[in-house]
Amino acid sequence: MHSVEQARDQILASVAPLASETVSLSVAIGRFVAEPVRSAVDLPPADNSAMDGYAVRSQDLACASAQSPVALRLIGTAPAGAIFDKSVEQGTCVRIFTGSVLPHGADAVVMQEDVKQDSRDTPQILFVDKSAPWEYCRLRGEDVKSGALISAAGDKLTAPRLSYLAAAGIASVRVARQPVVGLLATGNELREPGTPLPPGAIYESNRIGLAALAAQIGAIPKIYPLTPDDLAATKSALELAFAECDTVITTGGVSVGEADWVKAALTGIGGQLDLWKVAMRPGKPFAFGRWKEKLFFGLPGNPASALVTFTVLTRPALLRMQGAGDFLGPATFASLAEPLSNAGDRRDFMRVSVDSAGRASSAGSQSSHILSALANSAGLVDVPPKTTLPAGTQVSLIPWS
Ligand code: AMP
Ligand code: MG
Repeated sequence: MHSVEQARDQILASVAPLASETVSLSVAIGRFVAEPVRSAVDLPPADNSAMDGYAVRSQDLACASAQSPVALRLIGTAPAGAIFDKSVEQGTCVRIFTGSVLPHGADAVVMQEDVKQDSRDTPQILFVDKSAPWEYCRLRGEDVKSGALISAAGDKLTAPRLSYLAAAGIASVRVARQPVVGLLATGNELREPGTPLPPGAIYESNRIGLAALAAQIGAIPKIYPLTPDDLAATKSALELAFAECDTVITTGGVSVGEADWVKAALTGIGGQLDLWKVAMRPGKPFAFGRWKEKLFFGLPGNPASALVTFTVLTRPALLRMQGAGDFLGPATFASLAEPLSNAGDRRDFMRVSVDSAGRASSAGSQSSHILSALANSAGLVDVPPKTTLPAGTQVSLIPWS
């Protein structure tokens, strides 16, 4: 049996990033940068005002105070988006707005709240305080210099990063292609939700949850019809899915029962099985293999097992395919509101709910067929074998999203 880390390392070693494509920033959320991106401009592109107020020469206000205000003659307005055509000479000032380019000659801005009179009433503005050079000014290039690296290969395009690239003049970006992930569910007992349920049958629930997990990380799920427990049917279902997808995920049929045809079907169509069985709970019968250059993940059928093994072992590979630099995401922590116990000899990825104060508790029964606790969980806590983590323990949380 493989440890979780051995299995993950072996899987990741088999992953080749997909080819890259150019996409508009407007549809790039969640994608991963494939090539370094450099700024097209200085940011800000010019010295400009941080406030609505008056552009001044700071030395003109060296002696200004409430007792002896300094009057400066207002010579015009510097609107946003244009260059003011005159220079601020000694004894003058210019009306300015947040983001307006600083007029030539000015080296400071005084907030309009800090002046005595307003330009509406008089062309003279009274200043009652000193001003320091570059006060309330935003300087050209202080954020980014033109040509500077603003995104490296592997960076995830989050909302703030998209804003950053847009501000730097970038309209489109090279990103790795999104893997198409075929989702198959095996089992004679399975029926489609929304259809009648005959005696002995259950509704199929893995493909929809896995499709959601895959889509959340930028993969494109493709749901295939239910596959019966039959070698020939499983082989042809796998062949079709491999022909149409970059990666194929099955659920069920990877255990040791007579009806578990998935591994035989993979090898039967010329694929290879690279590993089977991982020391984790839920999810021990997890299988991983390949068909040509495409990856195969055989997840166990129980709903908790399928979603947990996807998250722990498949998700990293789908992220790596998209060129992600980091497949674990930012660390998330919670503190245990109650003890979590694992009496078994495999690591237990326990389903926990987390309250708004970050306190985690068991989401309910940890049996792998229990959907209610799975549904109420925010994520997983990895509890080592034969271990009780006491209440108050700070734990890392593996969130569902
Ligand atoms: P298996 O891994 O095929 O032995 O299935 C283990 C358990 O999971 C059995 O109780 C199955 O009925 C159940 N199961 C398998 N596949 C699914 C599925 N796609 N949706 C819901 N339950 C499933
Ligand atoms: Mg089965």
